[in-house]
Amino acid sequence: MSVGLPERTPTSLLVGGQWVQTATHLQVINPATLGSLAEIGDATPEQGLDAVAAAHDAFGSWSVSSARSRAEILRKAFDIMTSEIEDCARLIVLENGKAWRDAMGEATYAAEFFRWFSEVAAHVQGDFRYGPNGDKTIITDYRPMGVAYLITPWNFPAAMATRKLAPALAAGCTTILKPAAETPLTALWVADVLERAGAPAGVVNVVTTSKSGPVSEAILSDPRVATLSFTGSTYVGKLLLEQTAKRVLPSSMELGGNAPFLVLEGADVDSAVEGAMVAKMRNGGAACTAANRFYVHASVADEFAVKFEAALRGMKIGPGIDQSNDLGAMVSVKERDKILEIVQEAEKEGITATAVSEAPGEGAFLSPYVIRDVQHGSSLTRNEIFGPVAPIVTFEDQSEAIRMANDTEYGLISYVYAKDAGEGIKVARQMESGMVAINRGIASDPAASFGGMKESGLGREGGFDGIHEFLETQYFAVDL
Ligand code: NAP
Repeated sequence: MSVGLPERTPTSLLVGGQWVQTATHLQVINPATLGSLAEIGDATPEQGLDAVAAAHDAFGSWSVSSARSRAEILRKAFDIMTSEIEDCARLIVLENGKAWRDAMGEATYAAEFFRWFSEVAAHVQGDFRYGPNGDKTIITDYRPMGVAYLITPWNFPAAMATRKLAPALAAGCTTILKPAAETPLTALWVADVLERAGAPAGVVNVVTTSKSGPVSEAILSDPRVATLSFTGSTYVGKLLLEQTAKRVLPSSMELGGNAPFLVLEGADVDSAVEGAMVAKMRNGGAACTAANRFYVHASVADEFAVKFEAALRGMKIGPGIDQSNDLGAMVSVKERDKILEIVQEAEKEGITATAVSEAPGEGAFLSPYVIRDVQHGSSLTRNEIFGPVAPIVTFEDQSEAIRMANDTEYGLISYVYAKDAGEGIKVARQMESGMVAINRGIASDPAASFGGMKESGLGREGGFDGIHEFLETQYFAVDL
């Protein structure tokens, strides 16, 4: 396989159906080689406002197009993406660094949002009732909000884009997508797929920029913008909420996580290790849903740690473009070093941390760590690690384990390995998280509601809820 970019890889902004050049450019780096992959458009705040104008102009006709016609465009986008899935995976690998298998998994998951929301588009239901006093009918209707501004992170450059674009378009909104500066190529490729699927000019706009703060501020201050959907860190999410509060702008927030992974007394250790490998290592640990801290019952703690370490040691580390590698590069040297800083902080707290294997010297690679005998409250359990580092806390008392699991400002997902599903659900009901995976290492599904409690976010994506982030509820009182 060629290590070059796919033939159809746009590098300029998409505004009003035109690929628009910019005065300055932004380098996209391959984290596995640290070499340059491409130069892409670097939008100014004014160009951000051009995208707002284009999306606003397109909203008039798109918002009144039939749900079925929008569904057909989304379904066609699914078909195109599926038939070119390796191109998408290759872009993800090259700009994000992850392993080929993870990139194929992401590309497939990303395409599924187009299929799922093509199915949901025509099934939005209003409501008709008689008022209890008999004086009127109550009709509840839904209408598209308007221009949606979508900001996505680098860790899932395809899936975070489609998880927002698909429901927004299904609802009848027009969009401006701003991907992370590290991984803009996949987002531009996805937008090109939508153009080829028949999305009219201005319905999908993409703004890539090195100035995400000023560009976003200009866009969010514009009264033509109706809603913000953000995925990224809790820190940036809070900054954006301060801005959207000024306009009382609806804001959907998918933010950071600090997922606990509980292995309870009596759980099957082999399946817990298998689940841990997925929950911790999918995407090299760079997932908001990544298991961040492991709470393991004392009766199985040693066996779990030994088997988990052995499984991690068996992972082949190297460039994701080589399909035989299991663990690719981190997205950048900066992100890799942030993970190492958390490990170093833990060492200062007295913890011994040794990597399970050796990572290649060139590129932003990092070998996994299993760190045993960690105390709850250590920097390893407080911070979102976002990499292949697995701290293990041993517990004796299940209620104490649940307390420690919930002792965080985050609440995205928890993992529970129990002796059976019944006990798993009993414990899951006590977890302060929007999602709980029971006896399995992955929960994400386009057909399920994805989102967090506490500082992990506001609103839900996917499932039947996702489209409602882009719909306004309107009630008509009709005189009888
Ligand atoms: P980030 O630094 O918050 O960046 C996310 C996005 O926000 C990027 O597009 C970034 O663009 C942009 N951004 C940064 N500063 C901004 C500002 N002042 N105004 C407007 N936009 C701004 O997060 P990240 O490091 O890319 O992603 C990792 C985080 O995302 C983790 O915390 C992870 O848990 C979270 N995440 C959450 C979910 C979820 O569904 N809950 C899913 C995936 C990731 P630039 O980078 O180009 O500046």
